Amino acid sequence: MNTTQRTALVTGGNRGLGAAIARALHDAGHRVIVTHTPGNTTIGQWQQAQATQGYTFAAYWVDVSDYESTQELARRIHADGHRIDILVNNAGITRDATLRKLDKAGWDAVLHTNLDSMFNVTKPFIDPMVERGWGRIVNISSINGSKGQFGQTNYSAAKAGVHGFTKALAQEVARKGVTVNTVSPGYLATEMVMAVREDMRQKIIDAIPVGRLGQPDEIAALVAFIASEAAAFMTGSNVAMNGGQHMY
Ligand code: NDP
Repeated sequence: MNTTQRTALVTGGNRGLGAAIARALHDAGHRVIVTHTPGNTTIGQWQQAQATQGYTFAAYWVDVSDYESTQELARRIHADGHRIDILVNNAGITRDATLRKLDKAGWDAVLHTNLDSMFNVTKPFIDPMVERGWGRIVNISSINGSKGQFGQTNYSAAKAGVHGFTKALAQEVARKGVTVNTVSPGYLATEMVMAVREDMRQKIIDAIPVGRLGQPDEIAALVAFIASEAAAFMTGSNVAMNGGQHMY
């Protein structure tokens, strides 16, 4: 797909959708750096397991919800001689509760991790992309950022905000060779969804016209295309992939 090898950074690239994206970008011929949370003690084992399958990933810790932590991440990445051409803002969490039960901590955690992270992580990498005249930023939102979801005022608000961020930044850097797009997955078979109670999960599946959860690899292939040379005319888009659950 690509003719030029780039360096990609995938936040939360050590599992779930992020790991699938990391593999797809690696398959497309790029060097790939993943991030994980500071407390993650199994990252070395994960890297080794990936290596046995032919995937070489550098890994850095970061708390994407914390501005200082993200600036420190960029300093370490740059000091190690990497330059980031492709940034995938993927790390995210849920803390579901109806607004009546949602406490301030649950609101703040989701807004800080899912929305503040867009600013925190993109900020130190945008200038180098603009200076080099090439960049791809892919922000992972969610179907629920467009349609809203019972019990997810925090998550829906943050994910809607992700696309606002995308559209504004896309305009700011469009003439500099940097594209900024949102990908909005529907429900995927990752830990985030498999952690939902089984009867609730069946209800989710029943609401998906194609009759199944999405596979992370399906979203990852889309991200790899958006990150490619071929997608240069695509910016400010919100690309949905949700099995027909929400059409717009
Ligand atoms: P997982 O829960 O499987 O993985 C979340 C990832 O984010 C992990 O790598 C985790 O790191 C990382 N992470 C969480 N908090 C932080 C933080 N504060 N700082 C740095 N990294 C952090 O999630 P999914 O793979 O399911 O989801 C990935 C993205 O896709 C999220 O943005 C999610 O909202 C979105 N999405 C997911 C859908 C789904 O159905 N799964 C549907 C639509 C969107 P660690 O392993 O170290 O904890």
